[in-house]
Amino acid sequence: MSDLNARVVIIGAGHAGGTLAALLRQYGHTGPITMVGDEPIAPYQRPPLSKAWLKGEADADSLALKPLEFYAGANIDFRPSVKAVKLERSARRVHLSDGSELGYDFLVIATGARAIALPIPGADLQGVLSLRTAADAEALKAQVGPGKKLAVVGGGYIGLEVAASGRALGAEVVVLEREARLLARVACETLSTFFRDVHEQHGVTFELGASVTGFEGANGHITGVSLADGRIVPCDAAVVGVGVIPNDELAVDSGLETARGVVVDLEARTADPHVFAIGDVAHRPMPIYGRMFRMESVPNALEQAKQAACAITGRPAPAGEVPWQWSDQYDLKLQIAGYAFDVDEIVVRGDPKSGKFAVFHLKGDQLQSVEAINAPPEFMMGRQLIGNRKALDKAKLADPTVSMKEVTA
Ligand code: FAD
Ligand code: NAP
Repeated sequence: MSDLNARVVIIGAGHAGGTLAALLRQYGHTGPITMVGDEPIAPYQRPPLSKAWLKGEADADSLALKPLEFYAGANIDFRPSVKAVKLERSARRVHLSDGSELGYDFLVIATGARAIALPIPGADLQGVLSLRTAADAEALKAQVGPGKKLAVVGGGYIGLEVAASGRALGAEVVVLEREARLLARVACETLSTFFRDVHEQHGVTFELGASVTGFEGANGHITGVSLADGRIVPCDAAVVGVGVIPNDELAVDSGLETARGVVVDLEARTADPHVFAIGDVAHRPMPIYGRMFRMESVPNALEQAKQAACAITGRPAPAGEVPWQWSDQYDLKLQIAGYAFDVDEIVVRGDPKSGKFAVFHLKGDQLQSVEAINAPPEFMMGRQLIGNRKALDKAKLADPTVSMKEVTA
């Protein structure tokens, strides 16, 4: 079911929504496109908010996916600072926070995810911050600088990237992580240890296995983070990076299937043929692994925007992609391809002490995932191997003197 003249309404003007709007026009869609976003600005990239932008190495304009004029020029009705509040699927209508409503032929839920807030005393003090939006990043930047004490709750991507940027800006940084190791949700133990060592060499301190029980304050502003063992970690600001929750309420309330994310197929379509979901909010199939999963990454937002654009404009579905993500901290580039599902063996190629190595996760002789530090060939070839499911020679893989070309031959 496709129609180049159909009325398309995109809810959420983020990485996925903004990309989809542009792709629809690129693919020849002639019908009305409306994009509703509850932030005041046009779709932008979030990755620099914890990295280059936070450190002052990128300006605000460079964050935008497209200049604001693009949307009017492409006849895309972009409505900023407006929230979709109710989806009426039987009438194919969505209600907005400004009291208006929009009819649609295709509705795309691209509402992303929001930062989890800790339900503990003091969470409403000034200086207790999260990092999801450009506005959050502005608030954070104002608090980080030479001599400032920054506490970071959560040793995941947000936590470690903010820690690295905080050090670059001269702040004292302490990371408080609940788990016994860093990046526990996204990376293996070798990487956790590696990143801990690197951050410590840059002056970051860690409290692992930390149970944060509250925020202390004076005159309405944070002065410290309290831990279950009775200690108080003094700070001028705290960033809470303890994960996200998908913004799937429109789907839940309108009776669509959800599983901590809106359930979709490989066209990014829900069980309602008129409703799609893309990006961080979508719970999607991963054919390589034979399972459903909700991914939180830019490459996933781009892939699903493409899937929905093809389905809406009647193009063949795009080829499946091997998922990947990256993180920049100090002079390190971490690139991860695939997910380490059902892994029974790990092969480390190269010496972590050299700052250039890769960790391969295997199920039998097939590659499930690769985590590469400053090792682009291992990442790129690994990504191919995950996609083509080729059997691997583990001895060759473990030997860095054997080129990746030879390993994959
Ligand atoms: P979003 O970009 O979050 O966009 C969703 C939009 O919908 C938001 O503007 C939201 O306010 C809006 N919205 C929500 N509900 C409604 C509603 N009811 N009505 C209207 N609008 C609504 N990924 C990587 O791959 N690499 C990185 O290095 C990386 N770094 C990151 C750094 C930071 C600081 C953050 C926060 C994220 C980072 N990510 C990174 C993750 C990446 O940015 C997300 O995966 C990506 O933005 C997902 O796109 P999305 O469009 O699904 O969601
Ligand atoms: P995350 O990767 O889920 O990491 C959150 C970390 O905080 C986890 O290690 C978690 O441990 C820990 N934690 C949870 N509750 C805690 C508590 N009460 N006290 C201390 N630690 C606690 O999420 P994130 O770092 O907040 O990132 C948010 C989103 O931004 C994600 O979608 C992420 O993918 C995205 N992002 C991506 C990048 C990138 O790709 N480079 C960069 C920045 C942000 P448990 O495992 O125990 O829960």
